Amino acid sequence: MPRVANPLTKVRKRLEPCCFGLANFKNLPKDKDKPSKPDRHLSFYRKNIPIQREIVPKVDEALDLACERLGLDRESVHGFVLPDPKINAFCRDGIRGNAVVFVNSGLVEHLTMLEMAYVFGHELGHFLTPLALNTVSDGQGGHMPASMEDAVIYRQLEISMDRFGLVVCQDLKVACAAALKLQSGLSGDNIQVDLEAFGKEAIKGFVRDHKEYYSEAFASHPAVYARIRALYLFSQSEDFHALIGKSGGRPHAEVDADVHKDLHATLDYYAEKLMDDALADLNNALAALQVDHEGQCQLAHYAVSPRTPPDEERIRSLAGDIKKIPEKERGAAVSAKLEELIIECVRRCPYRTHQHLEAVLAKLEKTKFHPIAKAIADGFTEQLVKVRSS
Ligand SMILES: [Zn+2]
Repeated sequence: MPRVANPLTKVRKRLEPCCFGLANFKNLPKDKDKPSKPDRHLSFYRKNIPIQREIVPKVDEALDLACERLGLDRESVHGFVLPDPKINAFCRDGIRGNAVVFVNSGLVEHLTMLEMAYVFGHELGHFLTPLALNTVSDGQGGHMPASMEDAVIYRQLEISMDRFGLVVCQDLKVACAAALKLQSGLSGDNIQVDLEAFGKEAIKGFVRDHKEYYSEAFASHPAVYARIRALYLFSQSEDFHALIGKSGGRPHAEVDADVHKDLHATLDYYAEKLMDDALADLNNALAALQVDHEGQCQLAHYAVSPRTPPDEERIRSLAGDIKKIPEKERGAAVSAKLEELIIECVRRCPYRTHQHLEAVLAKLEKTKFHPIAKAIADGFTEQLVKVRSS
């Protein structure tokens, strides 16, 4: 049978410059466009108002425009309106072949046609970029990034999606108006798009104590401040200009470097500090345990990354704490503490922890402590599997 060209390949090729960081088309899974069962989503036609010109003209116009400017066949995009006052829209994960997008009535009531087209551009971007990201249950029936490390990639993905939105509406002010309306729940004369004024106030929230960012470090979306800045930066880029038929603009690498700086300043820097903390705690605890077993340890064995160097004083004090525990309780107490540290590494930085433990194990190869360190590393893997499969 002759191979049928995948229509999305051409679309992706043109939109490649919108991709930011790790959220790029090269990182998509191999079966990214494998169609799901065609009847899996057709029941939505029975349960929801389908987006069509005769019924919801403004919404249909916005979806048409989004498809046209992204280069998607409108026939393959199935859109529906949900009776929900929250200003929101989403693209169904896992439905391939056709894109399936939902828009809440709240969004339709509050956004203009062009603002809605921006939102559709963002959501259809999720269809074009089905990254296989790790999630865990958020405990409220939804999902959240499986770790702080995963969340960093999630946020990069959202930056890319906003760029698809901007390619669709082709107007920075429209894109930012949509972002501010989504954030505030306001519409019409109640909200004005003064980005400078917004930026001046919003930046006040970014305080300097990284521990304050613990729950935000799992956020799937960047701060609105960073998203708006990223939209502004992309609107200045040569890529965006080329996509809308203009010339000039700032080079891609320069723009992306500035976006990275903003993401760093608004969350990623703090998230990295939180990850460093968890990994350093585990690293120091391992070294202290070796001191407890062998009377000493070589700091060089635990010097794997400059971001988490072994802390001699801390190791000494931890080893002292272990000694103070009555001998018959020591094993259980140490195991409980290690489990606590491992859980934190799984939540914050599982990939870095895995690499770190591999490197430490290699260095400990010839020591008597190696089997114990290996058992702890295995405990980490078990905990990771347990969390990911729950
Ligand atoms: Zn999104």
